[in-house]
Amino acid sequence: AVEVVGLHKSYGGLDVIKGVDLRIAPGEVVCVIGPSGSGKSTLLRCVNMLEEPTSGVVLVDGVRMNHPDTDLDVARRRMGMVFQMFHLFPHLTVLGNVTIAQRRVLKRDRAEAERVGRDCLARVGVEDKADVYPEQLSGGQQQRVAIARALAMNPGVMLFDEPTSALDPELVGEVLTVIRDLGLDGMTMLVVTHEMAFARDVADRVVFMDAGVIVEEGLPSQVIDDPRHERTRTFLQRVL
Ligand code: ATP
Ligand code: MG
Repeated sequence: AVEVVGLHKSYGGLDVIKGVDLRIAPGEVVCVIGPSGSGKSTLLRCVNMLEEPTSGVVLVDGVRMNHPDTDLDVARRRMGMVFQMFHLFPHLTVLGNVTIAQRRVLKRDRAEAERVGRDCLARVGVEDKADVYPEQLSGGQQQRVAIARALAMNPGVMLFDEPTSALDPELVGEVLTVIRDLGLDGMTMLVVTHEMAFARDVADRVVFMDAGVIVEEGLPSQVIDDPRHERTRTFLQRVL
């Protein structure tokens, strides 16, 4: 589970997150939507401590992330993060990409790392690409490898920041299908997305952010199809 309590984040004098409370239960899929600049990426980056919150508390599986006594390297292993750009290692094969952190960080031996890596590649449907290099893959395949690489670390939570925004339209579906299937398998997920149809189908809960606050949240059918707030309506009119 993820718990965010009273989160604030400022850059210099700019308040980007202005008091966010959010709880993601085990197995829950939460989609975050909202306009550009509303603080969605910053929220995600505060959850896994790529950014340090200015104030507030972030708990992941009961472990307080922003606490001096927390070993961040260990705590971050609870989370897998997938970004808009895939950030695969270009000089490593696909199998190398999905095994290197298992070996270096989790100290798995080669055989174990490769077994887990191949399982994860199969889970995202690219097991036949294990021996090729990232540049030989389509964007959708690269993003699926990035997801497999995160899964290989056995995260309790997966964080996605617009995982399909850099993809050609015809490749979006294959990546969203993989993410949907992870959710159906019970993975706890926080997904920032502009794909409203995906959020409507896959999310247990949709959170609409604007100007650093959660304006409203609820079932997809409520937030997307019957929003209560004018700001949500205005946003949805622009994107739907
Ligand atoms: P988008 O949909 O375009 O990805 P977003 O909702 O993810 O937008 P953020 O990237 O979280 O928005 O940015 C929120 C605000 O914080 C923006 O005004 C942005 O300029 C500002 N911001 C983000 N990161 C930094 C930083 N490292 N330093 C200063 N300002 C930042
Ligand atoms: Mg963003």
